[in-house]
Amino acid sequence: MTPEMPLLRLVAALLAAAFTSVAQLAQAQTPAAATARGPVPAADSLAVTAEELGARLRFISSDLFEGRLPGTRGEALTTAYLTAELAEFGVQPGADSGWLQPVDIVTHRANSASPNEARVSGRVTRTLEFGRDFRVASYTAADSVVAGGELVFVGYGIHAPPYRWDDFGAADLRGKVAVMLLGEPAIAGDSAAFNGRRASRYSWYNGKLAELERRGAVGVLLMQASGSLSRAPVTGARRLAAGADSATLRFTGSISDSVLASLLPRGRRLGDLVAAAGRRGFRAVPTGVRLDVRFRTEPVRVLSHNVIGVVPGTDPALRDQHVVLSAHWDAYGIGRPVEGDSIYNGALDDGSGVTLLLALARVFAANPQRRSITFLFTTAEEWGLLGARAFVCGGPVPAARMAANLNVDDGIELFGVKRNASPLGIEHSTLARSVERIAGSMGLAVTPDPYPEQGFFLRADNFPFALAGVPALYMALGTDAEGRPAGYIDAKVEEYLQRHYHRPSDEYDTVVVDLAGAVQFAEFVRDVTIDVANAAERPEWLAGSEFRRVAEGTGCGR
Ligand SMILES: [Zn+2]
Repeated sequence: MTPEMPLLRLVAALLAAAFTSVAQLAQAQTPAAATARGPVPAADSLAVTAEELGARLRFISSDLFEGRLPGTRGEALTTAYLTAELAEFGVQPGADSGWLQPVDIVTHRANSASPNEARVSGRVTRTLEFGRDFRVASYTAADSVVAGGELVFVGYGIHAPPYRWDDFGAADLRGKVAVMLLGEPAIAGDSAAFNGRRASRYSWYNGKLAELERRGAVGVLLMQASGSLSRAPVTGARRLAAGADSATLRFTGSISDSVLASLLPRGRRLGDLVAAAGRRGFRAVPTGVRLDVRFRTEPVRVLSHNVIGVVPGTDPALRDQHVVLSAHWDAYGIGRPVEGDSIYNGALDDGSGVTLLLALARVFAANPQRRSITFLFTTAEEWGLLGARAFVCGGPVPAARMAANLNVDDGIELFGVKRNASPLGIEHSTLARSVERIAGSMGLAVTPDPYPEQGFFLRADNFPFALAGVPALYMALGTDAEGRPAGYIDAKVEEYLQRHYHRPSDEYDTVVVDLAGAVQFAEFVRDVTIDVANAAERPEWLAGSEFRRVAEGTGCGR
């Protein structure tokens, strides 16, 4: 660091307070910086360049980082690199002690010596065949699950007072095994209930499990209603924040349609039941059949880490409030080879977000704003948003002091420059005003979520923030590409999801089309951050938002 730096920062801070437009600020800063340092600087300190984004993305998504899997050498390399960069920029450590927040995780390995057993008894009695009839995974940290209870079909398993919906009624789920549809009801002709086409918070898989656990269920079996668009995982190795030992819910899994149909009371047809679950007035249906499961796993404890840095705010009245910028550093490590390549590099997902966040850490370390800006590089996003949840529910900044969360996990910016912006979640909070202002100043149209039924807002690190009452956005530009035919971005997204998503081929040379798009996106996130960090008013949920109605303080309980 040169001795001129503190002076430059002071100049930048004074200018930031005096000018609202970033363009003005960038112009005004060049002569001021020039007098402070003598020669005219090569670039103003707010600029983000394609060179730095490209170089960092190439590096962090290279095979050297071994796919950045939590708890491995890839994690050690990644966190060391991130902290070295943040320190060099002049960002301050933001965890309770240093840069790293520990995140304690339990994963389960299948125990091949011990078969998974399941048996139904009562009106129907027989043994089920694992893999064909059912699948189960442990929902605890223990190595053995022996549990059972009466099967109760709970429909979508949703209790949503804002939409006057209650699948449970007086049903008692204590000691029972719930059979639950994925997703949420789509009520014909009703565009208000559950947000219509756009997935509502009630479709969130983990929220539904938490509701069933509150009601005392010992197991949950999932099934997919035909036509439901939910993509929540049906089964597979569970990875849980440690502390799940105390869970009353012992297992989750899935059951085949044909087996379930054969277990229903006389006169009940599965198709009718599923249809009824999507209509108002549905109530849980006990089957009178009991399911017992028994299986062993090998729990593996993984100690992973969030990397946290902070640029303290300049305004004594506002610096207690943090704008949290987040991106997840984890990817899928080294795994099954695909076409001879076994390293799951995670270049687009989410190496692109990590490099964007690093660039903005450099920018804001040199240009502090009125509110504090926290840079959160989360772990275990791919394992169920575990790092973000640990930060929100037990991190160094209480949720009440988080002014907003802007999460960066999109990646579509690597396909080129856009003519529109579509951050997800703008319908929920006054953050929409910052988005409108900045998009307007950049000549971008603000357009709605192009894939509303996918519920991407519910599947990324912004979501634990929203659940805890912090206004949050999934930052994204739109799908209208400059200089490309209509449909170009949709086709690129489809190609990425089909061929490269969560695969070894998510690497730099495959996914980067044009870094000018990455620069544009970085400028968009930077300027929205500046707007939010300096506004007189703190962001708020809008009166009609489903998060405002249920949020404050509810997002962290088990
Ligand atoms: Zn991601």
